[in-house]
Amino acid sequence: MQMVTAQQIIAILEGMFPSALQEQWDNSGFQVGDPQTSIKDVLFCLDITEKVLDEAIIRGCNLVVAHHPLIFQPLKSITGSTDADRCVIKAIQNGLVLYSMHTNADRHYQGVSRKMAEMLGLSHIRVLNPEKDMLLKLVVFSPGQDVLKVQEALFAAGAGKIGYYDQASFNAGGVGTFRPLDGANPAVGAVGKREQTAEVRTEVVIRKWQLAEVLQAVKAIHSYEEVAYDVVPLLNEDQDHGYGCIGELETPLLPVEVLGRIKAVFGGMVRHTALPQTPIKKIALCGGSGSFLIGHAKRQGADLFLTADLKYHQFFEANEQFILADIGHYESEQFSMQIFRDKLKDNFPNFALPITETTTNPIVYF
Ligand SMILES: [Zn+2]
Repeated sequence: MQMVTAQQIIAILEGMFPSALQEQWDNSGFQVGDPQTSIKDVLFCLDITEKVLDEAIIRGCNLVVAHHPLIFQPLKSITGSTDADRCVIKAIQNGLVLYSMHTNADRHYQGVSRKMAEMLGLSHIRVLNPEKDMLLKLVVFSPGQDVLKVQEALFAAGAGKIGYYDQASFNAGGVGTFRPLDGANPAVGAVGKREQTAEVRTEVVIRKWQLAEVLQAVKAIHSYEEVAYDVVPLLNEDQDHGYGCIGELETPLLPVEVLGRIKAVFGGMVRHTALPQTPIKKIALCGGSGSFLIGHAKRQGADLFLTADLKYHQFFEANEQFILADIGHYESEQFSMQIFRDKLKDNFPNFALPITETTTNPIVYF
């Protein structure tokens, strides 16, 4: 069987949920172990606990992929006095690699909240709060013979992705001028002489974290010694990135029927505000602690906002305008393991890729 390292497996996941998308306070990424370890199989979980690691050892999985990071605060000692300590020790003693994919999976349109929406059977799903500081416009100036190559390099590096479209660009012709100075090695023209050339201005949208890679790809194929380009910050919303989702039920249902469906899908217990008699169509959701999106859910016309970790006073924010429902943190994010697993399934057909059978929810309902 072909040897696959933890790094190679994670590269596939990060191709979907880039590490650069995580919040500054977050600690997504490798938690413990050598990324170059050759991997036998992968176990997926929401939280890394000692029981999960015992299960990984028994099942022969030496890579554990979790949603929540094991290590949040820097560890000053590793003595086995905390749960996190004991997991670190167990992982190192057993040659396990531990990896977490947290806010980078929360802030992505194919991430945790979208999975919740899909599990509830919603359609027309989009990001509830698209972020506004993610996008750049890259403008590249190329001579005619380079234009197609430049476009291909841009698209291959991920530029030009807008919502459900990719390879989006705008191209307009013009005239470029330049004068090569001493020391230049111009592809067109001669040193000391002003050159005038037909050029095409190609504009694409990129995400901030893509910039270095996209520029490298363009420079590698561009025939000019000095590639002229502009990087412009955009204030546009990025439909692909942001917390929460909003979608619609195919057929409106009574609130009590929706709660029944929520409970059937997510299990646990639903805490909710008063139920009106009017049917529900639009549902907003956010996996984990989503109270910061209550206002967004209202403004987008949601009939119900489903999230977790709502405090007593936050329930008052429903204000009889819509229904606030809290399904519990574990329950809301339990399907994130499936997203990671599904992404790897096609790439690694020789792996079983089990999802943990250990319930890591620390909350039990009486
Ligand atoms: Zn969470």
